[in-house]
Amino acid sequence: MQDFARQRQQMVDEQVLKQGILDERVLGSLRKVERHLFVPGDVLADAYGDFPLPIGEGQTVSQPYIVALMTELLKLRGSEKVLEIGTGCGYQTAVLSELAAEVFSLERLGNLAELAAARLKKLGYHNVHVKCGDGFAGWPAEAPFDAIIVTCAPEAVPAALEEQLAEGGRLVVPTGVEWQELLLVRKNAGRSQVESVAAVRFVPMVRGCRDGETGRDR
Ligand code: SAH
Repeated sequence: MQDFARQRQQMVDEQVLKQGILDERVLGSLRKVERHLFVPGDVLADAYGDFPLPIGEGQTVSQPYIVALMTELLKLRGSEKVLEIGTGCGYQTAVLSELAAEVFSLERLGNLAELAAARLKKLGYHNVHVKCGDGFAGWPAEAPFDAIIVTCAPEAVPAALEEQLAEGGRLVVPTGVEWQELLLVRKNAGRSQVESVAAVRFVPMVRGCRDGETGRDR
């Protein structure tokens, strides 16, 4: 039996804190969310390693430091409505759910969306809503969002997401194909201000959805 609780504290102290993440609320969420309950069984022993992990369907969950960095950039204080694009295994969703009022998460692959939704529900994350959908369209019925986080890389900031960002809101998105940069977009007085934060590597953001049951694109 592995001591996941100890590994999780070490992950925060030796990877996340050391690489410069200081927001106590973000650190608290990473200390709490049980990353090993989100990753597939064959990579369980590596759940708290300082690297991304495969989660099936050719997708990956980001390394803990990147999850922490992107979350910190959103400056969540507890009252926010957040949109996440790319639910994947639901780990980032859970980290956000500890820090905001409500989290809406879109995943284009139906089977990943269903698995993550069931996992989050079972673990008691009741303020999250997961739906199979194309992130390029955002979630207009729930807009505007105080914060938006994209965990796959489009070539450029999707227009619908910028539109669905509330006044004073923050959007974190990796952009680019071969060479990617993490962007922080802030909306103030109706205008967007863009800042480049770091060089990153994410799976591509792909248009359209795939049904979980039939495996068909739609
Ligand atoms: N935050 C996730 C990261 C998963 S990897 C986690 O913690 O596990 C990125 C995910 O984005 C993949 O699951 C991929 O299927 C999804 N994705 C790619 N393009 C998308 C799109 N247009 N809309 C929604 N999700 C998308």
